[in-house]
Amino acid sequence: MTLTARSLLAAFSLGVLCAVPALAAPPSHWEYTGPHGTAHWAKMDPSFAECAMGHQQSPINIDRTEKADLPKLAFHYGTVVPTIWNNGHTVQVNVPAGNTLQVGSQTYELLQFHFHAPSEELIKGKSQPMVVHLVHKNAAGELGVVAVLVHPGQDNPALGPVFEHLPYAGEHITVDGLSLDLASLLPKSLGYYDFAGSLTTPPCSEGVHWMVLKEPATLSLRHVADFHKLIGSNARPVQPLNGRVVKESE
Ligand SMILES: [Zn+2]
Repeated sequence: MTLTARSLLAAFSLGVLCAVPALAAPPSHWEYTGPHGTAHWAKMDPSFAECAMGHQQSPINIDRTEKADLPKLAFHYGTVVPTIWNNGHTVQVNVPAGNTLQVGSQTYELLQFHFHAPSEELIKGKSQPMVVHLVHKNAAGELGVVAVLVHPGQDNPALGPVFEHLPYAGEHITVDGLSLDLASLLPKSLGYYDFAGSLTTPPCSEGVHWMVLKEPATLSLRHVADFHKLIGSNARPVQPLNGRVVKESE
């Protein structure tokens, strides 16, 4: 990569959203703490108003749930050559087309996945050291995000290689010979919690279908620590439910 390309990417990344692909760069530079932190997002830019005004914001604390006959999550994931991007807010792994998630009559295509440390989602008030957000989109343009909580433990064959090649802020890299078997990223059991929510980063747009897996994946403690050292804490605090019901698969 040329220096020019690298600095352009660094500038571009300042406004880019962690939970959607890079389509547009809003002007305001948001962060997780300080004067541009989570409590101030809505005031920073008119396009961020939903961060404060929305009624179905993410993340949430998953506490009371209703058991429901939810459709199974059918992941049709293959082996991909990824692009790894440090956008300053997270490390995002962009994947080529062709990896899908079928949920009932919905078909979502995987666009990218990225990480938050600690986990943004709480289960009964408890966070995990990390969460992976797998961001999908259906043909109507609606987002479906699968959250996989991460416990420190055995290294993960699909995630480990990403953490061996963490880019510096603004860098967008491919690694010679690196491919990821995406299916091995997932835990064995695919039971999940289902609810309506939003992007967890500005502009906090709603209409996102959230599916949080009940079983966590594992990743080596070293890799969790490496991410934290590079990015710092990047979790938005939990948001009010405002009457939303969290469904839980049987
Ligand atoms: Zn996310």
